[in-house]
Amino acid sequence: MSGILEKTELTFQQLGASSEAEVDRLFAEIEEFLESEQIGDRETFRVLWASDKKGVLTKIRNNWLRAAPPSTRRWIGPRLEKLTHSVAFKLKTYVERQVEGEGSGERVDLSLPGVIRSVGSHHLIRQVFQEIEGIFFSIGFSVVEGPEIETPYYNFEALNIPEFHPVRDDMDTFYLDLPKDAKTPLLLRTHTSPMQIRTMEKQKPPVRVIVPGKVYRRDNPDATHSFAFHQIEGLAVDTDITFCDFTGTIEYFVKQFFGPSVKTRFRPSYFPFTEPSVEFDVSCPFCGGTGTSAGGGTCSKCKGAAWIELFGAGMVDPAVYGFVNYDAKKVSGFAFGIGIDRLAMLKYGIDDIQVFFQNDVRFLRQFP
Ligand SMILES: [Zn+2]
Repeated sequence: MSGILEKTELTFQQLGASSEAEVDRLFAEIEEFLESEQIGDRETFRVLWASDKKGVLTKIRNNWLRAAPPSTRRWIGPRLEKLTHSVAFKLKTYVERQVEGEGSGERVDLSLPGVIRSVGSHHLIRQVFQEIEGIFFSIGFSVVEGPEIETPYYNFEALNIPEFHPVRDDMDTFYLDLPKDAKTPLLLRTHTSPMQIRTMEKQKPPVRVIVPGKVYRRDNPDATHSFAFHQIEGLAVDTDITFCDFTGTIEYFVKQFFGPSVKTRFRPSYFPFTEPSVEFDVSCPFCGGTGTSAGGGTCSKCKGAAWIELFGAGMVDPAVYGFVNYDAKKVSGFAFGIGIDRLAMLKYGIDDIQVFFQNDVRFLRQFP
């Protein structure tokens, strides 16, 4: 025990202190000791300093204050009060440290206000995924997810893209380094379309699914390209699905996403796994489909074209059904592949795809 604590067992008379300077020195000594004390366990600290029977404060009150002659008491009173405050302050800060998760964690005063930590928010890409999922949930689609590492069979062949098909050039991707005796090469999927095949292999019609996920291509990074990006694949197959069901579904989605006033149009296109294939455009939601900005200049979003290319889609090519044991004479359906990054950039006015991957909180905080 520290020397100063032993002194609290004695009276001022026994200590031989009779002047105000000596009283001052004793209190300074005990304040200094209190200041230097590290609190390990709060209860031990409380018993030592503040317990009613044997606490330092009680001893000082009994041995120093009460036993002193009245002339000395007026020096002791205010100094004892100050010391009492110091002890109470130290106990209080200890509790605060406890709530913040420091200290030995023995006792926490739950009546104190909590320490609120911000939990952040979903990444904008995740938010757009959820928004699109919500729209398709409302018309009876469900979500399936698949592997990001695929075999060439699921990524290409079963989607009607044979080995030397030129479209594979557009989908150049990353192959994994495998041992020489590996049975099949593995690659990072270039689209979420392999899940069309995996879903139809497992499930008989009717099928109505969307497949959100990350995809990879060997694109050099620039404002609109990245080696990784995000897609939602959609697939609906049943015995009586027509081209009208297809365009109606896409139109419903686009109006839900961009607002009821936009128009859609489609242009003929080509994908190996759909026939016929189309590209969907939306009338520019930023200039109302006029191509002219509010100030009279050219709309910067659609570059004056009044239309914005959205995504590719089409009726499932009957050849694909052959890979999954569906009867192409009995079933029909449609598929689409929505680029999430592009839609998010359009809707939220973002001009560089790279910001999605940089994790700069100044960007992320703009989308709470
Ligand atoms: Zn425009």
